[in-house]
Amino acid sequence: MFSRPFAATATATAIALVLAASAGASQAQDASTIRTAEQLRDRALSSNVALDYVTQITTRFGPRPAGSPAETAAAEWAAEYLRGLGFQNVRIQEFPLVGWERGEESVAIVGPHAQRLVAAALGHSIATPAEGIQAPIVRFTTLAELMAAPEGSLAGKIAYVDAGQLIPRENGAGYSPLAYLRAAGPTVAASKGALAFVMRSAGSDEHRMPHTGTTAYVGGKVAVPGFALSAPDADQLSRIVAMGEPVTLRLHSTAHTYETTSRNVIADIPGRTRPEEIIVLGSHMDSWDLGTGAIDDAAGGGITVAAAKAIAEHGRPARTVRVILYGSEEVAQPTDTGNGGGAYLRSLTPEELANHVFTGESDFGADRIYALGLPIGAKDSDFAKAAARVLYPIGVLPSPDPELHGGADIGPIVEAGVPVFGLNQDGTRYFDLHHTADDTLDKIDPAQLSQNVAAWTALVWLAADSDVDFRAMRPTEAAPAH
Ligand code: ZN
Ligand code: ZN
Repeated sequence: MFSRPFAATATATAIALVLAASAGASQAQDASTIRTAEQLRDRALSSNVALDYVTQITTRFGPRPAGSPAETAAAEWAAEYLRGLGFQNVRIQEFPLVGWERGEESVAIVGPHAQRLVAAALGHSIATPAEGIQAPIVRFTTLAELMAAPEGSLAGKIAYVDAGQLIPRENGAGYSPLAYLRAAGPTVAASKGALAFVMRSAGSDEHRMPHTGTTAYVGGKVAVPGFALSAPDADQLSRIVAMGEPVTLRLHSTAHTYETTSRNVIADIPGRTRPEEIIVLGSHMDSWDLGTGAIDDAAGGGITVAAAKAIAEHGRPARTVRVILYGSEEVAQPTDTGNGGGAYLRSLTPEELANHVFTGESDFGADRIYALGLPIGAKDSDFAKAAARVLYPIGVLPSPDPELHGGADIGPIVEAGVPVFGLNQDGTRYFDLHHTADDTLDKIDPAQLSQNVAAWTALVWLAADSDVDFRAMRPTEAAPAH
């Protein structure tokens, strides 16, 4: 209580600052654009488009592996769906792809303590010989430890890396090193002479569900078969190894690749006064084969489609809003072409690319958005102030970190210079479900999905109905490195 006079003074100062800030924002960002953003935000909260899209695509097509007939059919259906919502210039952009099919697989401890383990082959893993691979394992706890193993020390053996459980975090930090282990593991294991690579799933759950995900091609090939164990099975195997006797595993997989095509679905809300200036909203159509790809990434499609539709219902903004449902985000390729994101970039003329004014991607589930990341130079800009004002009432705060990269789908255009924003989703439970059989529609919370749509609608409207030059806000060589 005795601090009241100081607190009151501080509060008054804070209010004055807020008023000054909002006055500045109103002058630079057209006041009616901000008012409209607030109205669109509130209306979007009751839109059912995102949930309808996610429900339909996961129900009609189930899993949509990259380049599979299900992904093709889903893309054709989505194009019709977008036409039905009133999108313009709806088109399908096809590109070649090496597809991958899981086939049959099994992992078992032969001895001591023989038992089957629940595991999944890593995406684009090669098959085992028809008779399987039976060999003793050597356990490691990090990729660095595996890399430090002497040359030839794993000859005739299976490398097993148990790097521990992922700790759930709002921003998903901690996943990247495990994704890198999944990508590099088979190649590093093979370089030491190993016959195969086995890892604990890159996940934060304790359910008996393995997390798949792509491994990497190095020099155009995946060197040895790779598998991920479910967390309880990784625990089990590590306990048995700790008993001290040599442990022999038998691995079997009929995984194989095939030549196919994938496709991006592209649809526009054409701009009213500057239609050549484009804002790209990205997500991906493909999913892993184990679940139905509800949170990864039908949700992103639903969120971005619903936001663009909410904007179109109000009336066309100055700039064009383009929704892209990218094909084949999930898989590595023998030669890296950037998959759907690369195919889209290569389809643009330099002039068209230069007119891509802003982009963002939704690919981190369907839980609430908590922060907005903007290009480094946007800090303290009138645009940032307007966005902060419009997003605050739905729980979205300015991110302390600038957005630099976006995700894999928009990565190629961001690398080519397109400024990027990030509407950061709460990833606390994302890696419980990610790339597992449990990535299904029931995991989506409709209220949090609607909050995503409201945030995307408001932010994209602010950017699309403005002449803000986001390119001037990108990192420069003088900017501090992050
Ligand atoms: Zn994804
Ligand atoms: Zn994924």
